[in-house]
Amino acid sequence: MLNLNILLLLLCIVILSDAKCRQNHEEDGRNTRRRPLYTDLSYTLSTDTIFFPGAREFSLNKDYDGVNKSGIWYSAFSFCMGEHGGTHVDAPFHFFKQGWTLEQIPSSHLIDVPTAVIDVESVVASSDAPNEFALDVSHLIQHEKEKGEIPPGSVVLVHTGWSKYWPDKIRYLGIHPNAAKWLADERQIVGVGIDTPSVDLGNSKTFPVHIFLAERQIYNIENVANLHNLIQSSKNSSCELHLFVLPIKIVGATGAPARVLAFCK
Ligand SMILES: [Zn+2]
Repeated sequence: MLNLNILLLLLCIVILSDAKCRQNHEEDGRNTRRRPLYTDLSYTLSTDTIFFPGAREFSLNKDYDGVNKSGIWYSAFSFCMGEHGGTHVDAPFHFFKQGWTLEQIPSSHLIDVPTAVIDVESVVASSDAPNEFALDVSHLIQHEKEKGEIPPGSVVLVHTGWSKYWPDKIRYLGIHPNAAKWLADERQIVGVGIDTPSVDLGNSKTFPVHIFLAERQIYNIENVANLHNLIQSSKNSSCELHLFVLPIKIVGATGAPARVLAFCK
């Protein structure tokens, strides 16, 4: 009888350990599946978020917040804001009447898009007049000498290093119109992003870069966050940077806040 009990006990141990082993195996399988590491290039929206002058700033109203009359936890808020605040996309319609409105930008221009980061932080830092810095064609050519040609269909992100001033409203650097033209005509890009509030210089009253890019159905991403985290990844030759650009899909919009995520492919 004793032997039978011992036998049953051993059988139980074998069955349980086999089940545990299979469970571990499945978990290991899940853990070892290749998943890209995403870098979040978006700022969190809050009352600190900066907006284009005259735009409605971010506000959050707690319409329902807590245990209701039926004893159920129920929270639901409303938010209100202008389209052009924080990390956001400018649709071409923003500066071009015939341009795509936000929901008309093709998904292929927003999802899994090849990405180049133009790192001019040290150039800006050593400039005699950093406030007047604008990315020009020479910076793009220098980038290509080091990293190779920017492929057609890319988004180009400009890292000036001035995101360190976020959320200072008056820190604007931009892109020279000649650089915008070169990127559009010579490299057929689909979007341009920058780590400052505008692709045009802050003192611009005519917005030449906005207009030029919009006329070619190229969108902008302004106030791109955390670009310094991409610089290291882009030094790794096995890292092919790609981007997800996910603005809220609003009918007829000129722009919208966006979640922007980068990863190595
Ligand atoms: Zn904008």
